[in-house]
Amino acid sequence: MTRQFELKELIRPDNFIDGQWRAAADGARFAVTDPATGTIITQVADSGPADARAATDAAARALPAWRDLLPKERATILHKWNALILANQDALGALISLEQGKPLAEGRGEVAYGASYVAWFADEATRIYGDIIPQQQHGKRMTAVKEPIGIVAAITPWNFPLAMIARKIAPALAAGCTVVAKPAEDTPLTASALVLLAHEAGVPAGVLNLITASRDHAVATVADWLEDSRVRKITFTGSTPVGKYLARESAGTLKKLSLELGGNAPFIVFDDADLDAAVTGLLASKFRNGGQTCVCPNRVYVQAGVYDKFADMLSRRVSELKVAPATDPDAQIGPMINIRAIDKIARHVDDALAHGARVLAGGRRLPELGPHYYAPTVLADATHEMLLCGEETFGPVAALFRFDDEAEAIEAANNTPFGLASYFYSQDVRRIDRVSRALQAGIVGINEGALASEAAPFGGVKESGYGREGSKYGLDDYLSIKYLCQGNLA
Ligand code: ADP
Repeated sequence: MTRQFELKELIRPDNFIDGQWRAAADGARFAVTDPATGTIITQVADSGPADARAATDAAARALPAWRDLLPKERATILHKWNALILANQDALGALISLEQGKPLAEGRGEVAYGASYVAWFADEATRIYGDIIPQQQHGKRMTAVKEPIGIVAAITPWNFPLAMIARKIAPALAAGCTVVAKPAEDTPLTASALVLLAHEAGVPAGVLNLITASRDHAVATVADWLEDSRVRKITFTGSTPVGKYLARESAGTLKKLSLELGGNAPFIVFDDADLDAAVTGLLASKFRNGGQTCVCPNRVYVQAGVYDKFADMLSRRVSELKVAPATDPDAQIGPMINIRAIDKIARHVDDALAHGARVLAGGRRLPELGPHYYAPTVLADATHEMLLCGEETFGPVAALFRFDDEAEAIEAANNTPFGLASYFYSQDVRRIDRVSRALQAGIVGINEGALASEAAPFGGVKESGYGREGSKYGLDDYLSIKYLCQGNLA
């Protein structure tokens, strides 16, 4: 029987270490709030280095037995976890919406999306092959085998409270690693619920440990993992400055890193594009989760011949988006995560207007709904001097830049230190080939705005990080290759 939980049963305010729910060692707590209303949902453990150490101790004790299970035994547990996540889709989706603010339909969608990684890596667990190296000398056999890398520390952001942590924990467990994890301070509850379900699915004590911490405590807490030589890998999704910090600070013990960092995605609409498809693709990719995703288009480049028409079509559709709390079943855009996020959006829009941008839709806060709401916005006449060109706005703002020819668009698109997602719309096959090759990004959407799939490799180039999540490549980040050389056979 796959157990279904009530929403309130899924809310766990404590750390999960060695199979037990525990308060922080010093009893500290911090508040988790509903971004729609500012109401406190609960007070969760505010961990310190002692809690991080206890989690690592548990993960170290659990590692030998977990690593030695048959891959199909680990797969069976992961499949049970997947089934439990799906059986609790409504409650988990509601919890995501409650602490993160996204509309309920998106919350439920995220549950299915996160679960798809668990199912995928459950299957991949049984396909970890090595190689028999063609013989080089008589009497000598050489083979390459793959082993779990060891204890993995996972650090995740708030924008996808379930999917981001699921797509780190699932491959780690599939590979035979044990895990210590710290979710974002804004959204720790979904992660704890996920861990509860993993325990229910039969993940043994110590294999998966989760600690929560406020931003003030996070630095010292995570530092304990960075310095601990037993932790062999850091998998992180978040901002580029924090990613660089983790790389620097973990260098002392030379950990392997997977870093999925910030983007500044270009979205290019050529004169020969199907404009209806481009508008629909931009709406899906830009305004999903209120524009708070790292693959959101941040700079929309539109060729001069279709600029006005595209701007008009887009702003009509954007003006119709319904902004409301997740509790409203018709909501399409919810509140932003916190006041820092709203202030950044307002700063970007104000700066753009000061530099000559025109508002075609939105362009203002929505205090009538609450302090965390911003109207979905379209800005015309964006230029490269504006803040929103160099930095991710991470909100519901589409800024339209005008360009004349293909070379100019590619030059502008690549003129950023980042390289996560990119998108372009064109119906010319030769242009599609040229532009796909020229874009400096880990992910290219060609006449498509929805890119995410557990079967596809997700990750960036340049300062958007390294490593890939999902797909057949996703497990490699959690494995090391051991070369076995057996001699004197003849
Ligand atoms: P965002 O700006 O989206 O919150 P961050 O990169 O700041 O992105 O945060 C992503 C995750 O990294 C969160 O879990 C956060 O608590 C954690 N984090 C932020 N700064 C540090 C730090 N100095 N050391 C360890 N973890 C950190």
